[in-house]
Amino acid sequence: MRITFVAVFSFLALAMVVCTFISMRSKKEIGKYVAFLTVSIIPPIIGNLIVVASDIRVLSVIGYYVYFLGMDVIMLSLVRFTFAYCNITVITRKYRYALYGVLAADALQYVLNPFFGQAFSVDQIMVDSMPYFRPVAYAGQTAHRIIDYGIVFIVLFIFIYKMTHSPRIYSEKYSVIVITLVITTITETFFIFSRTPIDRAMVGFGIFGLLIFYFSLYYRPLRLLDRMLANIASGMHQALFFFDTSGKCIWANEPGIAMTGISGNSFEKAERDLREMFGEIRSDKNEWHREESTGRGEDTRYYELEMHKVADERGNWVGSFLVITDNTKQKRDFARQLYNANHDPLTGLYTRSYLYEQIRRELSANPDTDYLVAFVDVRNFKIVNDIFGKKFGDYAIQCIAKLISTDISEHVKYGRLAGDAFGACLPVSELDTERIERELSEFTVKSGSIEHHILIHIGIYEIVDKDIEVSVMFDRANMALSTIKEEYRKHIAYYDDKMRAKVLWNQNISGQLQEALKQKQIMPYLQPIMNADGKIAGAEALVRWIHPEQGFMNPGAFIPVFEKNGMIVEVDKYMWRCACEILSKWHETDPDLFISVNISPKDFYFMDVAQELTKLVEEYGIPTSALRVEITETVVMSNTDDRMNDIRKLKEAGFVVEMDDFGSGYSSLNMLKDMPVDVLKIDMKFLSSAQNDERARTILQNVIHLSGDLRIASLTEGVETEEQYRMLSDMGCELFQGYHFSKPIPVAQFEEKYTH
Ligand code: C2E
Ligand code: CA
Ligand code: CA
Repeated sequence: MRITFVAVFSFLALAMVVCTFISMRSKKEIGKYVAFLTVSIIPPIIGNLIVVASDIRVLSVIGYYVYFLGMDVIMLSLVRFTFAYCNITVITRKYRYALYGVLAADALQYVLNPFFGQAFSVDQIMVDSMPYFRPVAYAGQTAHRIIDYGIVFIVLFIFIYKMTHSPRIYSEKYSVIVITLVITTITETFFIFSRTPIDRAMVGFGIFGLLIFYFSLYYRPLRLLDRMLANIASGMHQALFFFDTSGKCIWANEPGIAMTGISGNSFEKAERDLREMFGEIRSDKNEWHREESTGRGEDTRYYELEMHKVADERGNWVGSFLVITDNTKQKRDFARQLYNANHDPLTGLYTRSYLYEQIRRELSANPDTDYLVAFVDVRNFKIVNDIFGKKFGDYAIQCIAKLISTDISEHVKYGRLAGDAFGACLPVSELDTERIERELSEFTVKSGSIEHHILIHIGIYEIVDKDIEVSVMFDRANMALSTIKEEYRKHIAYYDDKMRAKVLWNQNISGQLQEALKQKQIMPYLQPIMNADGKIAGAEALVRWIHPEQGFMNPGAFIPVFEKNGMIVEVDKYMWRCACEILSKWHETDPDLFISVNISPKDFYFMDVAQELTKLVEEYGIPTSALRVEITETVVMSNTDDRMNDIRKLKEAGFVVEMDDFGSGYSSLNMLKDMPVDVLKIDMKFLSSAQNDERARTILQNVIHLSGDLRIASLTEGVETEEQYRMLSDMGCELFQGYHFSKPIPVAQFEEKYTH
């Protein structure tokens, strides 16, 4: 009997030591509470071990002290563990200290027991004819028991509360502790009342320690895991089917049930349904993965099937599960996104980049066919938008898209390149220029009460080298467009290599302008203007560019380029300054000579010309009348309020306004009376035909007369012969300019010849 208990107690004590070490090293928060509890169980066990093992009174007494004092420490560690294990944080410090106080007082009374004997004494009895010493309790010991039982009941209460108030899955970990605690308490009570010398409850404490050690550190609620996995499986969007090793379906989640149309628990039928939908479904040791689709056209659905195997701990195949993902939405979304990225939302035509891609593909698929690209440009589309509104503009764009896409072969690739530009690529053999010209000349857009002819021009580049970038092909087709100008009858233009050279040249000289102005490569030449007496009256300043590589350049080469890109403004401002500088030099010697400067229509867009010129003449201190301004017929004829205002402002500032190139455009005699100009510069082309054409001569005569009547002086330019000069003087023309007198010449040369 003795030996058995010595062995059991020693084993439990040793077990507690091991548990303590392991718990101390545990990374879990609860580890230190467990360690404290298991270590505190050791002294009472040792105490009892001493009592059981010894037959000497003193040793037994010491054993009991260790036992009883140890119990106080167990109570302390039990409470601390309980709070941590049950996540109780609401206990205030006050209560905690009260508990420590009670336990400390209890410990103190054991210390005082040898002196007062108020707690216990020992009493020898014989068991199996061997002496044992059992405790005899007094008031102190009873108090100790009340305290311990009180604490145990509180702890029990907490665990029972947790057990009953937690979800079933969790209550397991509380109920096991409750049961052991109850059994231990009952055995302990039995020990107290039976007055047997061996405290069997110690075995209960040991087991209690072991259980706590296990539940706190190693227990994982397996049923909880099961539940979680089951929940995840049922909650998945994918359809799930579980198969056993015989290939029978044993379970399916909701989406799986919905997909197959099985009902209740008739999972075996799932297999047949799946086979009907997707063909063979192999559920063996092999995992597989494939994509399937069902239905057709609009109703097509896309699925991804994955078969996974399930193995036990030893790696044996125990079943399989099939995951079916319905990718239909993603596939459709992706297709829609792709479509949206590649198609213009307004017209449904290809976007530029997608068109380029399609053209690339078409060209490489048909290497032996000759193709061309067409750049379709809507002229003045901005004005259409401004006048009729964006809605009409959008509608017009849609109509053009429709026009382009009607009645064409599959080899024609077309799309929208930009807001008002479309592009197409087609075999040369399919280009029907007659049809295009006819359709474009008749093309009107009608919406409600608005009906408008939309002017469309097409630039064509025949693809010689299929390897160049598609964007470059369209650039070239676009270049061809510039040759159409504002012509109304012609809608198609073709690119040739000279155009490309020209575009490059234009870019080149535009880039050089600033530097050329700085280095004075650009300068005015002067052409004399004579009066009827053959005397010098003034000069026209004409720009010249002495280019380091190109040599002497006439304005015809570069002015149109700068007119187009707006750089003309820089040139003109420079020329006006030069003219003022020259005039200021002449001011003393030849105050009667004037200089006419040219004003481009573009200048009016970018600045207040009158103000700019006024500033200049003030800066150089010259009279405004010495600087004459030449405005082209188109500016005057545009007849907009703004332009008329500009001209009036120039006149008010004191400048003499000349109308340049009269007769070259659409001006009519009738309009003369409304023109606020001082001088009419009659174009030389007008004159050259007048020489031998009686009718033209009559018109010229009338123009000069009429302008005289309107108090507008007339100047004829392009006078090349003495004969012309005489004829014009006879007609009453006042001023003359032309090669007959002099070509435009450098300023120094002019000054030498014509000034004092
Ligand atoms: P424009 O204003 O009509 O200038 C007259 C042009 O006729 C000049 O050509 C001149 O050299 C030329 N010319 C003069 N007399 C005769 C003649 O008897 N026979 C022939 N066949 N031609 C004659 P240029 O200098 O080549 O200038 C061409 C055009 O360039 C000018 O026409 C003008 O529109 C423009 N331009 C010239 N300089 C400037 C300038 O500084 N600014 C602006 N905006 N345009 C300028
Ligand atoms: Ca001129
Ligand atoms: Ca002229």
